[in-house]
Amino acid sequence: MAAIELKNVSYSYVIDENTVHSAVKDVSLTVEEGEFLVMLGHNGSGKSTLAKLLNGLLLPDSGTVSVFGKDTADPSAVYEVRANVGMVFQNPDNQMIASIVEDDIAFGPENLGVPREEIAERVDWALECVGMSEYRNATPFKMSGGQKQRIAIAAILAMKPRVLVLDESTAMLDPEGRKEILGVLRSLNREQGITVILITHYMDEAVDCDRVLVMARGELIKEGAPADIFADEVTLNRAQLTLPRVTALGEKLRNAGLDLPKGILSIEQLTEELCRYL
Ligand code: ADP
Ligand code: MG
Repeated sequence: MAAIELKNVSYSYVIDENTVHSAVKDVSLTVEEGEFLVMLGHNGSGKSTLAKLLNGLLLPDSGTVSVFGKDTADPSAVYEVRANVGMVFQNPDNQMIASIVEDDIAFGPENLGVPREEIAERVDWALECVGMSEYRNATPFKMSGGQKQRIAIAAILAMKPRVLVLDESTAMLDPEGRKEILGVLRSLNREQGITVILITHYMDEAVDCDRVLVMARGELIKEGAPADIFADEVTLNRAQLTLPRVTALGEKLRNAGLDLPKGILSIEQLTEELCRYL
């Protein structure tokens, strides 16, 4: 069974009696359990709207979204859908509830009615997953952006979602903080089998994922392996996307006459190609 399945999903915001704004247009998509997806797209391309459709925060005007087989529009499935798809947003400060880390992480499972002893176990596990075990009794307010965002992820993990959706959750972080979060997401995906959907405008974050989704003007215009996406100029132009740094460097060298493949995605790959010239 797919983790999430969208069939011809559209969503419009009603601005006033005479105006609706079409934000997501006829999107069909299957997310398999265990995948690591990165969603790219210019500002206003519909990424956040699509994210909110994935866990029933918004319901489609037409089409269907199902999460592990449950239709998000089915009122009796709301609880299960929300529990299965955890959302992490951009600003970690807006996601903190308590002034002590462990209370903040316990808040979600407490609300789900999880028994005391299990809450303690989940807090331990969630902190370990994000590499913050020693901060259990700390106050989040004094932490770095990367640390706060790791706590925000732990707070969602404590509710044991099978899918994590991160909507520009690295956007407010410095490069070090972004690296921390990417590392945490990779290990959650590989070691815990959690499906990850990372929405970002940093192209570099898309080079090492299973599949890239490209949004433009509310449409899912392309999906594919990172190497295919970053070699596809038509799609990149249409979506107004730039290249990851290493891919851009490869392109410059190609344009200078070196015989390199398009869509180089790592320093290692570029180095290997260049070594042929030595
Ligand atoms: P992204 O996350 O890719 O920047 P959004 O999903 O936030 O895109 O927005 C898609 C489109 O919908 C944009 O044109 C945006 O202005 C519009 N939009 C987003 N949220 C609202 C809202 N609450 N009311 C009206 N229009 C909105
Ligand atoms: Mg957005």
